[in-house]
Amino acid sequence: MSATADPATPREGVRAARKRGRTRVLIIGGGINGIATFRDLAMQGVDVLLVERGDFASGASAASSHMIHGGIRYLENGEFRLVKESVQERNGLLKIAPHYVKPLQTTIPIYSTFSGLFTAPLRFLTHGKGKPRERGAFLIKVGLVLYDTFSRDGGIVPRHSFDGRKKSLAALPKLDPHVKYTATYYDASIHDPERLALDVLRDGALAHPGAHALNYVEAIGLSPAGVLLRDHESDEEFTIDADVVVNASGPWTDLTNEALGDDTSFMGGTKGSHIVLDHPELLEATGGREIFFEHSDGRIVLIYPLKGRVLVGTTDIPADPAEPARCTEAEVDYFFDLIAHVFPSIAVEREQIVYRYAGLRPLPHADDTAPGFISRDYRIERRETPVRPPC
Ligand SMILES: Cc1cc2nc3c(=O)[nH]c(=O)nc-3n(C[C@H](O)[C@H](O)[C@H](O)COP(=O)(O)OP(=O)(O)OC[C@H]3O[C@@H](n4cnc5c(N)ncnc54)[C@H](O)[C@@H]3O)c2cc1C
Repeated sequence: MSATADPATPREGVRAARKRGRTRVLIIGGGINGIATFRDLAMQGVDVLLVERGDFASGASAASSHMIHGGIRYLENGEFRLVKESVQERNGLLKIAPHYVKPLQTTIPIYSTFSGLFTAPLRFLTHGKGKPRERGAFLIKVGLVLYDTFSRDGGIVPRHSFDGRKKSLAALPKLDPHVKYTATYYDASIHDPERLALDVLRDGALAHPGAHALNYVEAIGLSPAGVLLRDHESDEEFTIDADVVVNASGPWTDLTNEALGDDTSFMGGTKGSHIVLDHPELLEATGGREIFFEHSDGRIVLIYPLKGRVLVGTTDIPADPAEPARCTEAEVDYFFDLIAHVFPSIAVEREQIVYRYAGLRPLPHADDTAPGFISRDYRIERRETPVRPPC
């Protein structure tokens, strides 16, 4: 799909952009961040051109766990402002996009009472270094009480609840019988994140006649006349001059900067994979909830219903953005292992995988922080250098 305010075919949009030759703001990257920036500028009447080298929302924005979460995990990092913002955005999306964003009942199975009580604050202070210890009921309770204070949107979102083994197994009989408690709270899911992204893009394209978005167009370098772009459909190259260039190319930010002659090392993305299973027994075992839990390696993982199938994820592995991200067989083994961790009586076969996907998280470069503890906060870096090289 291509979006352009021009009443024309996508390639006519490219021809029109070439003819104009300049815009006030050039956005590189049509993931959710580039698209949201595009809409924001368009709604303020700013001339803007967005270029995306593939399909819109085909990078990290197509590889998510399909959650619009309130950032409960960030509590552990002490990132309270981020939790507050995430919750506000989640609650806002539940209201303005209820056709995509739905409340998601989320249950955490818990196997101990006091575990992690002393190591969790220590991990916060040491940025996730050290051996992970299981998060026990006491720690999770403290987290959820705090989360309720951020999350409830004036009482619309239900408070969390805590159940003992008997009630937990009555609600979710296939859970590991060793479970001691379950904690349940509400977050939100989005089954079609790409559709939401396209709606946001279209909203921007329709808001201002000077707003244009082109896919299959890649920023490949700099020329004296501006940023050099390649149209992948015609293989033609052209330049666009801009007052401001926004590099919103997510995990590929440094590679795009390099192509534009700026050597940066902002990013240190990690790969995350998922599988989608056609598995009616597992689907039923979830009781329609997200099962959100800590695997034996300390990673927070999830199993939840997605369009009559079951989504299982995810991994967090340092990765090179120059290489395509793929879900490996070792990751599939990891997913089967985590399913057995909570639903030990349910067998899963590779033939039941209908879909697997992987993506790179656009995380900041972080030398010795454990991947799960690298901040998920946003960051804007300004470069005052002129975009054009001297003639
Ligand atoms: C495994 C995983 C699970 C996640 N789960 C969740 C979740 O459940 N909920 C949640 O909210 N978030 C989740 N995230 C995070 C979320 O997906 C990202 O924060 C978000 O999608 C980032 O969007 P972006 O626009 O910055 O990057 P991207 O979506 O990657 O967009 C960047 C775009 O730039 C394009 N591009 C790159 N170089 C160029 C160039 N030179 N010229 C033109 N275009 C270029 C790429 O093709 C790409 O489309 C998850 C991420 C991953 C990887």
